[in-house]
Amino acid sequence: KKLLEIRDLRAGVADRQDKGEILQGLDLEINAGEIHVILGPNGSGKSTLMNVIMGHPKYEVTGGSIGFEGEDLQVLKTFERARRGIFLSFQNPEEIPGITVENMLRASRQAVTGKPVKIMKFRKELKAAMEELQIEPEYAGRYMNVGFSGGEKKRNEILQLLLLNPKLALLDETDSGLDVDAVQIVSSGVRKFHNEENACLIITHNTRILEQLSVDRVHVLLNGRIVEEGGSELIEKIDREGFGFLKQD
Ligand code: ADP
Ligand code: MG
Ligand code: MG
Repeated sequence: KKLLEIRDLRAGVADRQDKGEILQGLDLEINAGEIHVILGPNGSGKSTLMNVIMGHPKYEVTGGSIGFEGEDLQVLKTFERARRGIFLSFQNPEEIPGITVENMLRASRQAVTGKPVKIMKFRKELKAAMEELQIEPEYAGRYMNVGFSGGEKKRNEILQLLLLNPKLALLDETDSGLDVDAVQIVSSGVRKFHNEENACLIITHNTRILEQLSVDRVHVLLNGRIVEEGGSELIEKIDREGFGFLKQD
């Protein structure tokens, strides 16, 4: 079953004077049950792609189409895309002083489902998910990401992933800044999340996170275009050789 269908996507930053395109004609198809990975050097447009799929207002689509379960995403606002089941884990999760992790996650669940969420039932779910991710229970009462280490922020993103249970998870360098143990926890969190009904699109520089995931397709992004595609063998090749072999041709 097809989830995401991107055709000849072109996009740039909305308020940039030169209107320079960051994404320069990009095609991508993701089916339910699949894990896709995007690799690419810094500045190649990976985060831009994620933000454009999510409908971040900072970015402007200048051409092409983005379909999700057959529906045109571009007419939908970000919260509507979230309600359709798209989730974006940010490269740099924001700190939200004054709002606890528990309240934030419950509010997110409520916003995404459009239904009231029972406090005690949600607390149980939260506790179970936190145990799975080896997050200390006291974190539920701490302000969202305030004073969290890089690794704790990323783990918190995976916690959100498990509790919102989207159809398409966009994970933007969810692993950067993680130590070895935290990489394992994030990786096992993604494994726990993934099933035949949903899909993941993962941006990473740390390919260790992929070792225990069964990656279906790898796309290499360079200057806003997908310049190479393949199976997981491409991950090993890039680990060995870097992106140099792509830049030459
Ligand atoms: P990646 O995630 O692959 O490192 P990004 O998508 O963040 O790359 O950025 C792609 C290119 O777009 C970079 O050259 C970056 O400087 C530029 N860019 C991204 N966001 C903005 C912005 N808000 N204003 C101006 N340029 C931007
Ligand atoms: Mg699969
Ligand atoms: Mg990025």
